[in-house]
Amino acid sequence: MIRLGLAGFPLGHSLSPRIHAAALRACELRGIYDLHPVPPDDPAALHHLLGRVRAGEIHGLNVTIPHKQAVIPYLDALTPAAQAIGAVNVIYCRDGKLTGDNTDAPGFLADVKKFLAPVDNPNFEQRHALILGAGGSARSVVYALVCDGWQVTLVARRAGQASALLALHASALTCRAFSDLASLDLSSVSLLVNTTPLGMTPNPQHSPWPGGLPFPRGAVVYDLIYNPRETLLVREARAAGLRAATGLGMLVEQAALAFEIWTGQRPPRDVLFAAVEDS
Ligand code: NAP
Repeated sequence: MIRLGLAGFPLGHSLSPRIHAAALRACELRGIYDLHPVPPDDPAALHHLLGRVRAGEIHGLNVTIPHKQAVIPYLDALTPAAQAIGAVNVIYCRDGKLTGDNTDAPGFLADVKKFLAPVDNPNFEQRHALILGAGGSARSVVYALVCDGWQVTLVARRAGQASALLALHASALTCRAFSDLASLDLSSVSLLVNTTPLGMTPNPQHSPWPGGLPFPRGAVVYDLIYNPRETLLVREARAAGLRAATGLGMLVEQAALAFEIWTGQRPPRDVLFAAVEDS
């Protein structure tokens, strides 16, 4: 009996139980995926939950907002990706060591490559990505792209957030103010990624992309938001003839990679996607 779960707050709308239930079924494993709502002001509850992972009572734990950074002091080891990103979304205990990993970065890269692959765009040779936002998910996205050989321009409304990322990826990352977006030369950009919450339910009428600004020509647009399934940004990019996707595939992929780490089994991605696409 494999016991998995998710720590975060709030967790009411989490899709993770459905994805992992589908993975357990597809791999013919007996198990359960529990939600552990831990409020941000309750470090004792977080510590207690991690103790259950250390004791082997919970075999794998996902971590989401607001604990992705808060768990780090309680862990014995971080994988290189979790260390570089400074955030953990997967925890397990191996050889007596409570270990934190990050599957958001490879999950993003695996999904975005599905949309990049079939596009015939000479700009792809240059591998220049434009990232909107500099929060938690931007750290994973920038790490994934820089490790994959991309040059990244990031626009952020807070210079302090961006400079923390700049310190990590100095040679491949340029940071600019969000308000400068309309004045940037975007002609070599082949991938545009939204990591801000602009356009997310309950405000689907918002878009991070300034009205009237043309999209980079031929670029793929990837919006990390997965609720709604089609954001205003994605709708407008498609209307402009661009290939565009929201982030449900990334959510499924990071979950599948976590499941692989915990169980050693590879769940079929299409089955996991089907478990949540109509939710
Ligand atoms: P976060 O840590 O709060 O970061 C959000 C970033 O967006 C911050 O840099 C924030 O700047 C910026 N921002 C917010 N409102 C803005 C505005 N009006 N104009 C310009 N910048 C603005 O959030 P996150 O954890 O990175 O999550 C962001 C989104 O990604 C959410 O919708 C989340 O659901 C989605 N996500 C999806 C996946 C997936 O698997 N598909 C994974 C992770 C996250 P300030 O700090 O100045 O507010």
